[in-house]
Amino acid sequence: MTARIIDGKALATKIRHEVAQRVLALQAQSIQPGLTVVLVGDDPASHVYVRNKALACEAAGFKSDVLRLSSDTSETDLLALIHQLNQDDTVHGILVQLPLPAHLDQHKVIETIAADKDVDGFHVSNAGLLMTGQPLFRPCTPYGVMKMLESEQVELRGAEAVVVGASNIVGKPMAMLLLAAGATVTLCNSKTRDLAAQTRRADVLVVATGRPGIVTGDMIKPGAVVIDVGINRNSDGKLCGDVEFDSAAAVAGAITPVPGGVGPMTIAMLLVNTLEAAERRLQQP
Ligand code: NDP
Repeated sequence: MTARIIDGKALATKIRHEVAQRVLALQAQSIQPGLTVVLVGDDPASHVYVRNKALACEAAGFKSDVLRLSSDTSETDLLALIHQLNQDDTVHGILVQLPLPAHLDQHKVIETIAADKDVDGFHVSNAGLLMTGQPLFRPCTPYGVMKMLESEQVELRGAEAVVVGASNIVGKPMAMLLLAAGATVTLCNSKTRDLAAQTRRADVLVVATGRPGIVTGDMIKPGAVVIDVGINRNSDGKLCGDVEFDSAAAVAGAITPVPGGVGPMTIAMLLVNTLEAAERRLQQP
């Protein structure tokens, strides 16, 4: 069997086009969605991610600001800046690019962002709303995965879904979204005793560990839908996922590539979350 390739780039382009149309409708009511990204320090990968987010915002017609702060920025100054953005009516979404330099308390920083501007969906109140089935902002990467499954018309009700990786930003919210869609969910972490025994049961397998090649074709149920969230560099410096693509594609029914799979969807869903924050503002008195 050779798997169907799930084209995240094409789907993201379609979603971004729809976002741009909804922006025009908002602009007609004198509202321009605004996203402010705060970047602290010199992490090269973070600079690339932030630049891509800013370009996507501008292409969709958003007001986009990137605040670049030096790596020795104090926590007091960073929190004061976030308080200021919380009060700014032209800012609908605030995103603090992670990881932060070690002297900054990531948890405290995220909790300072107003929950109704937390377009990453990482604030504890947004995590709680997701867990209790009333999501305000769904974290962008798992939200993008759900959109991909929807576009592929994957039946999630009653499906066995296995998520490998249990981080707060990908694995855990992914499990919550799959559960809410009616799947029976298994969430694996680095202590999982027999990973292959878990993954082989999966009708839908989502892998988000940051360990290249952790899932190979022999660990996949024939015909399964495989979503590879991982973004890594192999020994040749090329981008690769967590799934060994060639052996997996020979067994799976459908699979996402890296690059061109989940990555573009993450940015598209950031735009959706920011747009919806602006639309909600319009509905407020
Ligand atoms: P984290 O490092 O925060 O979490 C990794 C998770 O994987 C942990 O829960 C860890 O378990 C688990 N894990 C590690 N080794 C194993 C193993 N051998 N077996 C089972 N589970 C294991 O990573 P993130 O969630 O932030 O990111 C994961 C990957 O996704 C990375 O490659 C990252 O670059 C990529 N990513 C891609 C995005 C995109 O847009 N496509 C967006 C965000 C991330 P434990 O909890 O026990 O430590």
